[in-house]
Amino acid sequence: MKFNLKVPTEVLFGENIIKDNCNKFNKIGDRALIVMGGKSAKLNGALSDILTALDSCDKEYYIFDKVEENPSLETIEAGSKLGKAIKADFVIGIGGGSPLDAAKAISLMINNPKLTKESIFSQKGLEGIPVIAVPTTAGTGSEVTQYAIVTDHIGKVKRNLGQTIYPKMAFIDSRYTEKLNIPMTRNTAMDAFSHIVEGYLNSNATEYTDKLSQEALKVWGEALDGLLKGSLTKEDRNNLMMSSTLAGVIISKNGTSIPHGMGYALTYHKGVPHGLANCCLYNEYLDSFKNKKKVNNIVNILGFSSLKDLKKVISKLSQINLSITEEEAKKYTDDIWNNKEKLKNHPEDISYDELYNIYYKSLVKNGNMQ
Ligand code: NAP
Ligand code: FE
Repeated sequence: MKFNLKVPTEVLFGENIIKDNCNKFNKIGDRALIVMGGKSAKLNGALSDILTALDSCDKEYYIFDKVEENPSLETIEAGSKLGKAIKADFVIGIGGGSPLDAAKAISLMINNPKLTKESIFSQKGLEGIPVIAVPTTAGTGSEVTQYAIVTDHIGKVKRNLGQTIYPKMAFIDSRYTEKLNIPMTRNTAMDAFSHIVEGYLNSNATEYTDKLSQEALKVWGEALDGLLKGSLTKEDRNNLMMSSTLAGVIISKNGTSIPHGMGYALTYHKGVPHGLANCCLYNEYLDSFKNKKKVNNIVNILGFSSLKDLKKVISKLSQINLSITEEEAKKYTDDIWNNKEKLKNHPEDISYDELYNIYYKSLVKNGNMQ
């Protein structure tokens, strides 16, 4: 067995993990920029735990709470402007994937003050100031990945920034997700599911990541009844958080593939939340897979007797009220067809028509299938 794996983030996982590790903030810097969305971090206890920890170590902090869902480069520029003005020497991202990714991008812009939203994609190998990540959704795994997914209004796309920005530390406490409503819980859980599956059905998969994927899927499956019933126990929430972080480790190594590449267009053009945007395409994606060996393993690990049964559950968890036109399906297919980064992670040959059919069969209503 041969593999290499780099997971540079120090992961601290468990109930009250911030309160129990306040000393970890001692050495990281003097002045924090806290990056978050407008509301949830104040309500779910994460911000208050962070402020208590910072106060206990006599750290200064400023809050930037303007991060929207699918953060734009404009917002990232505004956050970095504040960070530079206050001379922040570390950044704390609190929230779902959007604030965590924004925190990573902001850390990069603070450390490279001449960088602008126009020049950020053309420069490689840049480093940021240290980032601490506190996830409050169980889905993206951003707390352990090097990716920062941003909305680029110039290119009219969602895309990865293309830099390697691993958080230095991640404080992961599933209590913060307890008040997440059921649609958001399902969407984010389906994001974690799609990371596990795309990391497993992947050109870069190794025996090591396969073992991680199988374990992450088992843990995710423990919460499946709760997700379907729309009523989750504390243990379900913890399992979702654990599988989401494991899935982050898997995609940090292998990357995601076709459903993520295809979902970005649905989020950018139609406002579909990220996890749902991937998973509304999943049944057709799984059908398009020619080698069914690993697909059948997924079915078995989750305790289903056939792919058909798994697909019924995916349909229940990714219900969407969206119809796209054939022209839109074609335009979005052009985008994924040109997205070589995602296509190279797909381990089989796939044609333009097969990609088009994934959009078509999933979302074009009243069309004329050729
Ligand atoms: P999100 O966009 O971060 O947040 C969605 C909504 O959930 C926001 O309205 C937020 O409110 C709310 N929210 C967050 N935590 C909550 C809580 N504990 N209780 C109640 N409401 C809460 O959602 P996400 O799905 O976690 O992140 C999606 C983003 O991550 C996308 O941009 C996606 O592309 C990216 N992503 C990144 C990676 C990676 O490796 N970097 C991987 C996959 C996806 P507030 O605004 O008030 O906080
Ligand atoms: Fe994702």
